[in-house]
Amino acid sequence: MYCLRSKLVASRGALHIQHRLLLSGQIQLSASDRASRAISSHLHKYPNISRKFISTETVNTEKPTVSSKFGRKVVIASSLIIGATTIFAILNHKHAEAENNKQESKKFPSSLKRGGPKNLLVADHLIDEDDSDINKPRLVILGSGWGAISVIKALERDKYHITLVSPQNYFLFTPLLPSATVGTLETRSILEPIRSLIKGISAHFLEAKATDICINEKLVELSPDSGEPFYLPYDKLVIAVGSLSITYGIEGIEHCHFLKSINDARRIRKKIMDNFEKASLPTTSPEEKKRLLSFIVCGGGKMFSRFAGVEFAAELYDFLTEDVVRYFPLILRNEVRVSIIQGQDHILNTYDAKISDFAEKKFRRDNINVITNARVQKIEPNHIVYKMKDGEVKEHDYGLVLWSTGIAMNPLTKTISEKLEDQKNTRALITDNRLRLKGVPDSSVYAIGDCSTIENPKLVNQLMQFFVDADEDKNGRLSYNEFQVLAKKISRRYPITKSHLKKADILFASYDKDKSGTIELEELNAMLEDIDKKLTSLPATAQVAHQQGKYLGKKLNQIAAAHNAKIYPPSSDYSTDTDKPEPDVDDLLPPFSYAHFGSLAYVGNAAVADFGTGWTWMGGMSAVYLWRSVYLSEQVSFRTRALLALDWSKRFLFGRDISKF
Ligand code: FAD
Ligand code: MG
Repeated sequence: MYCLRSKLVASRGALHIQHRLLLSGQIQLSASDRASRAISSHLHKYPNISRKFISTETVNTEKPTVSSKFGRKVVIASSLIIGATTIFAILNHKHAEAENNKQESKKFPSSLKRGGPKNLLVADHLIDEDDSDINKPRLVILGSGWGAISVIKALERDKYHITLVSPQNYFLFTPLLPSATVGTLETRSILEPIRSLIKGISAHFLEAKATDICINEKLVELSPDSGEPFYLPYDKLVIAVGSLSITYGIEGIEHCHFLKSINDARRIRKKIMDNFEKASLPTTSPEEKKRLLSFIVCGGGKMFSRFAGVEFAAELYDFLTEDVVRYFPLILRNEVRVSIIQGQDHILNTYDAKISDFAEKKFRRDNINVITNARVQKIEPNHIVYKMKDGEVKEHDYGLVLWSTGIAMNPLTKTISEKLEDQKNTRALITDNRLRLKGVPDSSVYAIGDCSTIENPKLVNQLMQFFVDADEDKNGRLSYNEFQVLAKKISRRYPITKSHLKKADILFASYDKDKSGTIELEELNAMLEDIDKKLTSLPATAQVAHQQGKYLGKKLNQIAAAHNAKIYPPSSDYSTDTDKPEPDVDDLLPPFSYAHFGSLAYVGNAAVADFGTGWTWMGGMSAVYLWRSVYLSEQVSFRTRALLALDWSKRFLFGRDISKF
């Protein structure tokens, strides 16, 4: 039943008059006396409608219409929100007052003493420490990115004296960084202040860069932006300092833009606007216009960070079609060229082939020039030189180049790596599968995220041990049951091998070469060698850093709890070395196991998702909404979630902000 409802407001006092136009052709009115006369004068317009004045009370006892119910809900919801906000504000104010009072009664702690190999000040107490911090083990976390924040979020309050150190006092949501380069999202919407994230666990924050670690003395050397360097002592240290972009020593790399930090995104946004404004000047020559409006992305696949290049190209395309055409001279639109130079055969080449095909076709339709099988050789101030696979050398003018390829070590990880004998990898710090830094004997230093890589177990080196342990009846060969137990044991101890040992029956059949119905030593050797060859390092992604951080945070809670209660977890087949005189709790807990939940990429009013094992999804706006909702759910705070939703709505309603400052 359709109801039309309107409200009349009388000149003096409010009069609620409800007109109900029922589809049955009947009108019901309720009004106070003064209004009823005014209404009845209009009713002659509806001769076929029966008239019935009913009292206000009668109407009020009627079943409310959908719209009245909705109105009431809105009023109730608004009152609740206003009430909650007021209570929250009052509580917040009271809390701030209490904190202030607490702080007033505090004094600055005594001055710091000098020590350590360089005789620097040793920060063994911090200015915001309180009594509850004393006697707790000191946990120092280096970095404020994906890895570090995931540790913080998993840690329990009161287990450690926690200090987070980073030159950035915010967490940056990197997957949405490409959207900040053209103003789809505002830069502050993808940042969350560290201090608000660590408040819940009463951690401390120091804005400084870690420059070195003294492993024997358990000191981290910190260097603030201004002021003298000092040491910070630790009992447990987590290194989560991320990585730098790899440049392969390319000549002229200084002419490129990078996309790693929030300042990079700001610089790119300014440069794009700069180029458009310069190209709009009447004095700019047509050739210069063309050059200014040529945007090149180097790198379009492989590591996750390289997908940022593809996503940047997609964002740029959206910006051109949605905003540039609206506000800039139309003639400029035809001069714009976006190109991606990619070393491999395809862009998004670690995704399923269907996805890279979809993305390439989409880019072709959008006039984004995808140049594959090309290697950049040199970058001159105004043009880039690249070599095709067939040897042909080409040049391309540019107004902006984005360098978006793989990752390299940052100065701290390089310093640590050079110090430790067990560290031989040139890309990242090597850890065991419990994320402990190789070369540090006492489980006191962990490395997670982009700055680290888990050492592959080299199963074949443990062949004899595996075989002897598994051969329960000691007959010199493994029955299917013995083999199955061994496969389980290896995958529990080394989760990275899990996917290769999942189907024990198939493995057994294929490695029992002599069809004896058992697996002999040589056959097991062949299998372990093959698995070793197939094992690859985990990718440098936010997903890996997040899972590692979460695992480590939880593990640190368990270690602290075990030490406090002096109750240790039972030894299990997770452990590699349980014969030590005093068990290391870390050895008794499960190793890190990575679960891949799929990868997403934005390709310009369309998105693609690869969930692994052949599961893909690609499409237009539906995929974009999936992409957005995944990132909304991944946010570290409600504040950034709300800001993102507002930014997306703002762009939809008013377009991007094209002011340059
Ligand atoms: P980071 O998040 O880089 O954090 C490192 C932290 O260490 C920073 O806070 C830094 O300030 C701090 N730091 C640096 N040096 C020091 C020092 N000496 N002392 C103390 N602190 C230091 N991954 C995905 O899974 N999906 C994506 O869609 C995706 N998109 C991306 C888009 C872009 C543009 C970029 C750049 C990366 C993207 N990635 C994505 C990769 C992802 O961001 C990284 O894998 C992830 O950030 C790694 O986390 P991390 O904690 O190791 O390092
Ligand atoms: Mg056999």
